[in-house]
Amino acid sequence: MKFRKSAAFATIAVLALTGTACGGKSGSAGDNGAAKPGAADAPKLPAYTVAKNVSLDSPTFKAAKKRGKLVIGAKADQPYLGFEDQSTKERSGFDVEVARMLAADLGFSKDQIEWKTVDSGIRETAISKGQVDYFVGTYSINDERKKLVGFAGPYYKAGASLLVRKDEKTITGPETLKGKKVCSIKGSTPLAEIEKPKYGAKTTELAKYSDCVQELLTKQVDAVTTDDAILKGYAAQNSKNLKVVGKPFTEEPYGIGMNKSDKALRDFMDSALEKHVKDGTYKKIYDATLGLSGSSYVAPPAVERY
Ligand code: GLU
Repeated sequence: MKFRKSAAFATIAVLALTGTACGGKSGSAGDNGAAKPGAADAPKLPAYTVAKNVSLDSPTFKAAKKRGKLVIGAKADQPYLGFEDQSTKERSGFDVEVARMLAADLGFSKDQIEWKTVDSGIRETAISKGQVDYFVGTYSINDERKKLVGFAGPYYKAGASLLVRKDEKTITGPETLKGKKVCSIKGSTPLAEIEKPKYGAKTTELAKYSDCVQELLTKQVDAVTTDDAILKGYAAQNSKNLKVVGKPFTEEPYGIGMNKSDKALRDFMDSALEKHVKDGTYKKIYDATLGLSGSSYVAPPAVERY
């Protein structure tokens, strides 16, 4: 296929990608042969029991109770993780379900959640300014961020990897990026990693991963880097044109971001995560969301509690 034609095709492919729900009842898991959410044999999401009479000495919780709803920050363009169907406004994915599970433990039903899309570059601001009660969106726990926000978890461990076009032959891992154009997003840890001189890559910084994927499909860049969990989602939805290459080259333990000084909420969330790993809810969520993008279940790391 000639470049111009393939660029036009790629744009359509991205539109199709971003307009497709996943992990939810209306969506398709993609073309990778994995079970589709609508299929009869597809893993089902668990039902969450909404707790009654929760009492917690947490300023965030008390304010949410008073307002009668919980404001949760999430991603909207990461299939299988944090996704918003643009036509139905339905949210789906692993992070979205973890957020709903925790909301139920706090006594809030699905309908008592107000979602706010928060991209990587503005997470710390949104959390510390109280624009969200908590944030669940492929958010790596690290010491730098801990100076600004609190983290419950980790509840999942990812690692940075590379997404390339299906016909790419020369990029096989981070050591092959010399002189290559690599896209990632502002405020993300994989961007900070790939900017290190040792890789010799030319980086493009955008606000959203879906924008990077568009740049890749239209050949403006040679690769996209971020967590393998995110990249596998894009590859699963567009396996004709995209693939993930190489081994993970960073460690990305995902945490629930919240107000730094709200230790009561952090402890509550840590206990809730432990409880749901034990009772199997966590695995059910995984199998019905992220598991559909091609990564089999691995037990999550132990929660940190600090
Ligand atoms: N987990 C990485 C981070 O927190 C990359 C994914 C993201 O940008 O959300 O920066």
